[in-house]
Amino acid sequence: MTTTHCPYCSLQCGMRLTGRGRARATPEVGEWAEFPVNRGALCRKGWSAAGLYAGRERLTTPLLRDRATGEFTPVSWDEALDTVATRLLALRAERGPDAVGVFGGGGLTNEKAYQLGKFARVALGTSQIDYNGRWCMSSAASAGLRAFGLDRGLPFPLADVEDADVVVLVGSNLAETMPPAARHLDALRERGGKVVVIDPRRTATADRADVFVQPVPGSDLALALGVLHLLVAGDLVDEDYIAARTTGWDDVRESVGAWWPERVERVTGVPAVEVRELAALLGGASKVMVLTARGAEQHSTGSDTVLAWINVALALGMCGTPGAGYGCLTGQGNGQGGREHGQKADQLPGYRMIDDPAARAHVAGVWGVEPDDLPGKGRSAYELLDSLGTETGPHALLVFGSNIVVSAPNATHVASRLESLDLLVVADIVLSETAAVADVVLPVTQWAEETGTMTNLEGRVILRQQAVSPPAGVRSDLDVLSGLAARLESPIPFSTDAEEVFAELGRASAGGKADYAGITYQRIRDEAGVFWPCPTPDHPGTPRMFLDSFAHADGRARFHAVEHRGPAEVPDADFPVHLTTGRVLAHYQSGAQTRRVRDLPDTGPFVELHPMLAGRIGAQDGAPVTVATRRGVMSAPARVVTSIRPDTIFVPFHWVGANRLTNDALDPASRMPEFKVCAAAVRPAVEQ
Ligand code: SF4
Repeated sequence: MTTTHCPYCSLQCGMRLTGRGRARATPEVGEWAEFPVNRGALCRKGWSAAGLYAGRERLTTPLLRDRATGEFTPVSWDEALDTVATRLLALRAERGPDAVGVFGGGGLTNEKAYQLGKFARVALGTSQIDYNGRWCMSSAASAGLRAFGLDRGLPFPLADVEDADVVVLVGSNLAETMPPAARHLDALRERGGKVVVIDPRRTATADRADVFVQPVPGSDLALALGVLHLLVAGDLVDEDYIAARTTGWDDVRESVGAWWPERVERVTGVPAVEVRELAALLGGASKVMVLTARGAEQHSTGSDTVLAWINVALALGMCGTPGAGYGCLTGQGNGQGGREHGQKADQLPGYRMIDDPAARAHVAGVWGVEPDDLPGKGRSAYELLDSLGTETGPHALLVFGSNIVVSAPNATHVASRLESLDLLVVADIVLSETAAVADVVLPVTQWAEETGTMTNLEGRVILRQQAVSPPAGVRSDLDVLSGLAARLESPIPFSTDAEEVFAELGRASAGGKADYAGITYQRIRDEAGVFWPCPTPDHPGTPRMFLDSFAHADGRARFHAVEHRGPAEVPDADFPVHLTTGRVLAHYQSGAQTRRVRDLPDTGPFVELHPMLAGRIGAQDGAPVTVATRRGVMSAPARVVTSIRPDTIFVPFHWVGANRLTNDALDPASRMPEFKVCAAAVRPAVEQ
């Protein structure tokens, strides 16, 4: 019996697995009731996770694809790695190191994310690395850095939710995306606390809420401005806290002066009376916790939207108060750790900025290279993909832990950029839609076949322990990076030992914003996880942050005056409705894993629309409809539901299709694409 964690979302629920040492055997999932985050509870994805081992479509040998025929040929590891290295060296000689790009993932372990960033900058010498986490929580990360001087999704344990008086969920459907977390909301309500859900859809989470607010997609920022306007007007802000712990309040107070409730109603569609009731609820509570997720963040205004909600939490005096404050509910399994160890275009390990000379000197010292040899800042994830095959962009791309063909915005355009590459290499566990168009596919280990750390949404560093042997022919990503680095004549070797890599990661992070220096595998085992920052072996870790001071040099949080801007694309005569996207209970991210688990229903995509809209266009429940945007078209069965706004349609993104429609407009600060809203047309599909 091995204690470990779920292979999917950022909750990283604890579980017990049996089956150690049995190659290709399916382990059995059992409760780990003592793990504090989920206390034994799992969602259906977690309970069925062992199905990942059932063998359906698992890759067990490297593959080379013939572009003329599209056929794959199994080859040895030596042939695959030699082919990749030879072609990368030739490309680098011809076009320079930035001709090679690297695309990582928020599901990779901390050790893999760290080693991938080091591999890109030292073995390849390229600045062109970013990862799919840029599309997950980057707007909240950007806002947290600006407001608090530090980005940790939740700066408190998730269980603190139970101690709040009011929890406001802005764009989170956690009852479906991370169901065990909803238990904390239930405990809060049993105590008499209130849950507010803000979402264009009446989701399963909204069904459990005391207050449900249903704004037009892309208008959360205006709602926050209106709430703060009323808090100021009603003298409900905490002036003592503001004076003692923040800066920038005067500008923010002035900026919300014109956001009276009737104006908010015109922009958001939320009745003025509901805006007043929401402000009164928040202003009258002792402990308010505001939690944002992708619904608020995946917009071209995502960073400012999060800042607007942080302004509300700061004005109420909540940040740094136990049972209150602001937090982001990160999505991917290692959404938090994935952004801390150097696979982002602008960062080095320890959440250090790559253009900071002191940061470069520290990390270069740990790596044993010269600071001047490290490349500078690269392109953000979408901009990197958009540049592929162009005169200045990479002509080869290495992809680890990401299924870009399904998950990238404006996916048809991205697929054409991938086709323009000289070389596409994908390391994955199955022949995902992205692996299927690669020139070289490398089969790698997954989840319980290997040991490595993840950092969950609370900043708790946990250990996924190996419970079964990997299939013959499969190698770990660390082995792949080490083998390629040697063939690329890297100036330094790359360890294949995860615990050794973690110890080096700790040294690289020492003194940085995300300091892991005092964390070891043994401590994680003994303590059921350790919260960063944890700078020394005798440091207890930091479950709650900002209790006495924030991470800016003066110890104060920053208010930021932000303006409402609409989405990059709004409905018009040709594309008259809003399209929004999201997740369903049974699936995770691009579905590359969960669509292959037999116990999870693979329903395929669908289009949710309101009966009024369905009636207007003549759509029938269950019959196919076609959705078009300026970027693409897809067809799927209609689901006619009263839970969505009449001016909005919803498509889940776990299958090919939804992201052919989505907009690649980017947030200017975080470079987050606008996944959550664009203008669309919907009509009954023409039967062929
Ligand atoms: Fe827990 Fe998330 Fe796994 Fe479900 S998918 S069991 S909520 S970690």
